[in-house]
Amino acid sequence: MTPTVLKKDTKELWREILFKLYASVPQSQFLTWFKNTAILEIEGQTVTLGVPTSISFNNIADKFLSVIQQASGEVLGQEACQIHLKIDGTLHRRDMRVIDIVRLARSAAKKGEENALAPTKAVGDISSTNTETEYASDAMPRVGPAYVDRTSISRHTLTNFIVGPENQLAYAACSAVSKAPGQAYNPLFIYGGVGLGKTHLMQATGNEIKARFPRKKILYVTSEKFTNELIQAIGNQKTADLRRKYRDIDVLMIDDIQFLANKQQTQMEFFHTFNELQQTKKQIIISSDRPPKELGGLEQRLISRFECGMIVDVQFPDVETRSAILRVKCKERGIYLSEEVIDFIAHNVHSSIRELEGVLNQAIALYELSQTTPTIKTIGPVIMKLNQNRSLQGYHYQNGPKVRATTLEEVMDAVSLFFHVSGDEMYGSSRKKEIALARQVVMHVAKTDLGQTYEKIGETLGGRLHSTVMHSCSKIANLMKKEEGFRRDINSIRLDLGLL
Ligand code: ADP
Ligand code: MG
Repeated sequence: MTPTVLKKDTKELWREILFKLYASVPQSQFLTWFKNTAILEIEGQTVTLGVPTSISFNNIADKFLSVIQQASGEVLGQEACQIHLKIDGTLHRRDMRVIDIVRLARSAAKKGEENALAPTKAVGDISSTNTETEYASDAMPRVGPAYVDRTSISRHTLTNFIVGPENQLAYAACSAVSKAPGQAYNPLFIYGGVGLGKTHLMQATGNEIKARFPRKKILYVTSEKFTNELIQAIGNQKTADLRRKYRDIDVLMIDDIQFLANKQQTQMEFFHTFNELQQTKKQIIISSDRPPKELGGLEQRLISRFECGMIVDVQFPDVETRSAILRVKCKERGIYLSEEVIDFIAHNVHSSIRELEGVLNQAIALYELSQTTPTIKTIGPVIMKLNQNRSLQGYHYQNGPKVRATTLEEVMDAVSLFFHVSGDEMYGSSRKKEIALARQVVMHVAKTDLGQTYEKIGETLGGRLHSTVMHSCSKIANLMKKEEGFRRDINSIRLDLGLL
């Protein structure tokens, strides 16, 4: 370490490193994985990086170690910098060591803007579910982070839309429209059942157009809002203003057009807006819960206009696409679900992606509130409730009163399932990290929940010493105290065993 570097405090150094990381880590991941992190220690060439949970530990270890290493090397002036990750459950937003990552991302984006006037990505809290946002870029100042923040339609993008056979055509059409708005398919009409991704696709197309053509004026509106605006404008005698507003844009997205059914005046107004926009080659995107022909209560002239463009549908995706969607959503939400649990949810949700997300939300609640990692056993009842107790595929557990485990072998079976380590490996002498950890967990549960003696546990587990067992038990107890994620994992095993 050079003396100049040592003079700075670790927080300042980490801020500089994060600044560099912001350039190479995808933004949503940056915000998810680097919040509540801090440098705990720098010793020689080793930087000990504190992360708040085992989930962030695993993700950072998997994906970002080498970029962190490189960025740290640059900031610290050390080529052979080593990064050591450590879970520190006490790190949280109010911790003096922790940097406000959202603010940092904003200022990093701003800095980027000054260098190159390009990115139109939304920064900051991307969890906004605001679905009705309008903007007119011409009147806006240069694209800067604050502006982007306020006006981003939503977090939906074409990249986070998972494509499968059931929505491929719709996706392709949206993608084409986003590259050449007003030229490719006009109007673009997307239809399909509730919760299958119409709004997502539509807003994603808007976001994509905005990114490619920052000067285009884009307007997303639900049919309901359009109707209300019209009623208000008529009441205030401001219909001319409203017309001007709607006819002076480059891309109009109107969601859930079926709500215009039987609203004659709104339909007429929309018809004229539609014509004017189409004649001037402005893009129109429409969504509906059914194809144009089946839109009862809508004027024939409107229906034939819709039929002139491209009509695409979205259907309920197959199980593979559902699993892929779940995986992406888990990443976005910063939760880890095992492949078995993902597979289980994907197989047992039958109506919409929204329902899939509903189950995921419950899994997250379970994770956060009850301190347990979701398993098939705990997720099963959640889906049962949503499915009105339809029987579940792959749900092997009885719903009767829990039977308490009484033997070390039962504990071993559960641990083995959870950690993917076989019983033989635990009996054996391997010191591989994951095997040793699983073995220690078995010891701990046998001691604290089954009340077995160190001697007996050691004996059952292939003749291990009393002191080894004692040491393992206290190690697990400490880990559980220190690390929230680990505690949840162990608790969910204990729950499965009827020990909680
Ligand atoms: P709709 O407008 O068709 O009722 P939404 O677009 O609101 O449905 O979708 C419901 C939820 O499902 C949204 O959170 C959306 O992001 C998600 N979703 C739907 N389809 C996909 C997909 N193919 N990939 C990723 N997320 C999806
Ligand atoms: Mg919708």
